[in-house]
Amino acid sequence: PDIEAPLAIAIDHVAFSYPGSARVVLDDVSLTIPQGQKVAVLGRSGSGKSTLASLIRGDLAPTSGSVTLNGMPASRFGDDMAKHIGVIQQQTYLFNMTLRENLRIGNPAATDDEVWEVLAHVGLADLARRLPEGLDTLVDEAGMRFSGGERHRIALARVLLQDTPVILLDEPTVGLDPVTERALLDTFVENAQGKTLIMITHHLQGVSAMDRVVFVENGKLEMEGAPAEL
Ligand code: ATP
Ligand code: MG
Repeated sequence: PDIEAPLAIAIDHVAFSYPGSARVVLDDVSLTIPQGQKVAVLGRSGSGKSTLASLIRGDLAPTSGSVTLNGMPASRFGDDMAKHIGVIQQQTYLFNMTLRENLRIGNPAATDDEVWEVLAHVGLADLARRLPEGLDTLVDEAGMRFSGGERHRIALARVLLQDTPVILLDEPTVGLDPVTERALLDTFVENAQGKTLIMITHHLQGVSAMDRVVFVENGKLEMEGAPAEL
């Protein structure tokens, strides 16, 4: 389907069980996310957060109910979904190529100016400028040259560069210390203006910049509010 931003995500009375499993992972979940809203999705391990993310991305189809983008079922987008929703999974992948190419994976036409801009937005420009070969520096698969936090920043810069109207982050900062995490997310959220941001996380740390927080518990969206109210 050919749709354009503003992009409204509507999750309407969704129930979901994995095929062959009796367990109801999500049960009558509804959530509407307008273009530009920043939503944190919290919940314990195994509560169904990543499942919800897969439903939004259309990688899974609901057992009942619907997940739509501008009225179009998410599961019908196929590979086109990548144009609409940029994703960072729980695992951060770097590739055995230059820093520039690692950043341009989702947007091979991006100029160096654009690359430097997103590096600045995740607080990596200084580090990149100090690298002996700059953007031409080889990043090995393990990302050995970079710390865990820097690898997260590279992944965040990559998804900003893709320039999709929606960004879906599945625990993008797992393993970082709280101070680093908060600084990273605050910068990221500031520079994702106008974009819808759905951030899945285990804990409240770093959600202060978000507009809204929802909790997944026992298959339901248990309660929600603005971060300041929690
Ligand atoms: P975490 O915080 O640990 O990442 P989560 O909230 O993202 O957890 P999900 O990955 O959505 O949780 O999993 C929700 C439930 O669905 C879990 O009980 C999990 O075991 C189950 N589950 C996840 N993937 C599958 C699958 N492919 N097949 C069957 N069950 C699955
Ligand atoms: Mg998960």
